[in-house]
Amino acid sequence: SVRVRFAPSPTGPLHMGGVRTALYNYLFAKKNNGTFIIRIEDTDQTRYVEGAEAYIMEALKWCGITPDEGPGYGGEYGPYKQSERKEMYKPYAEKLIENGKAYYAFDTSEELDAVRKQAQKMKMPNWQYNSVTRTSMQNSLTLPEDEVKKRLENGDPYVIRFKMPRNRDVRFEDKIRGWVVVNTNNLDDKVLYKSDGMPTYHLANIVDDHTMKITHVIRGEEWLPSAPLHVLLYEAFEWKAPSFAHCPLLLRPDGNGKLSKRDGDRLGFPVFPIDWHTKEGEKYSGYRENGYFSGAFINMLAFLGWNPGTTQEIFSIEEMIEAFTLERVSKAGAKFDANKTNWFQQQYLRATENDILAELLKEEIGQPLKDITNTYLSKACELMKERSTFIKDIYEEGNYLFANPTEFDEKTVRKKWKENAVTLMTEWQAVLSEISDFEASTIEKEFKSFIAEKELGIGKVLPLFRLVITGKGMGPSMFEITALLGKSETLIRMEQNTS
Ligand code: GLU
Repeated sequence: SVRVRFAPSPTGPLHMGGVRTALYNYLFAKKNNGTFIIRIEDTDQTRYVEGAEAYIMEALKWCGITPDEGPGYGGEYGPYKQSERKEMYKPYAEKLIENGKAYYAFDTSEELDAVRKQAQKMKMPNWQYNSVTRTSMQNSLTLPEDEVKKRLENGDPYVIRFKMPRNRDVRFEDKIRGWVVVNTNNLDDKVLYKSDGMPTYHLANIVDDHTMKITHVIRGEEWLPSAPLHVLLYEAFEWKAPSFAHCPLLLRPDGNGKLSKRDGDRLGFPVFPIDWHTKEGEKYSGYRENGYFSGAFINMLAFLGWNPGTTQEIFSIEEMIEAFTLERVSKAGAKFDANKTNWFQQQYLRATENDILAELLKEEIGQPLKDITNTYLSKACELMKERSTFIKDIYEEGNYLFANPTEFDEKTVRKKWKENAVTLMTEWQAVLSEISDFEASTIEKEFKSFIAEKELGIGKVLPLFRLVITGKGMGPSMFEITALLGKSETLIRMEQNTS
């Protein structure tokens, strides 16, 4: 059965691209009645960032991308954190030495630096430790056997390197990109294991994918260059390789380069799912704290590189699972579009029940709405949701539903408030005061006969009414607004604001 994993390294917060990779893994697993696993790849201790792991887990939780197996979620193939599995990797590295697929190398980092510098001087900046250069380095392929033994017994620092074959075409079929062919002459003898007792990403990744019975590796395009090495490692172990699918890059809105963590603040939109605070006190803002629904965020993300092949754009997670296939993930980079994100957010807001919106609004705004009934709030949400993107907009754009306005839209005053305005509004106030049921339909009916009697067009009177009651030039139905405000509040405003 299908088993997939999302394998983040806790080297920083998870940006949008990472969440999308997790999402595609999740959708693929659920679509195929499979298992979705989270594995934390924390073998590189020099790049470990405190708080990153907790951030990743919390971000995925907010997105509703829940693992079946993973740290804190249990599962038969744990532990799911590589640092807690570190004992198991060495025998695998040694096995590769035994069967001639890997070797010990004793070159210190100073020595390697010196070689690279020398190569630079000789205008060979792309020096690689590979089948050609390894013959002049200190390793178990060039040193006499007893020397190697002595060094190992001596506890000399070493690494275990993969013996990259010379001039071989490595091929594999990527589920998104089709056939990929890479010649090994462009690849180096990657380090698999370090003398600090830690495997590198490559070894740990392959060993874990194998022992966790991963069937499909779905990950970002940045890992495509590593895939040939991974294919060769599976071969060296005589294991069946999983299928690979490398997801397209996320590009800046102008298509100019990869979306980076700095773009968010520069271009004015979040690139992280939730806020991230660095140790140095910097903040990178997230979708959650900016008021987005996680459903809208996920819906937007799904479309960055995938499409269902139909015109449907709004998908619940269940619908996404149903529609998702790797074949419909494109290999071209996906341009991020902040406006589209807001469009998704609007659609989600509109689709949310009014009483749920009311609760969310109360939660978000707090004190100022504490004494307002849920029925009133719910009606306010109904009136404002078509004009809002975020929950808070309902309050901010519809502030007149909660307080008598103190500011009046200048443009409307200038264009509409003519010399007859005060008289007209005073007369209209008199009509309003006679309405007993104060329902929207009654107010509307009375308004229509009022303007008919005055032989005035709606555009001459309604803007005045709106200005007096709301202070604005635009908004939802005035009859609904005044019905909600109630008769006495409406009359107070007519009285106070008509001058
Ligand atoms: N640990 C790698 C990362 O941080 C995982 C790559 C993979 O999925 O193989 O993205």
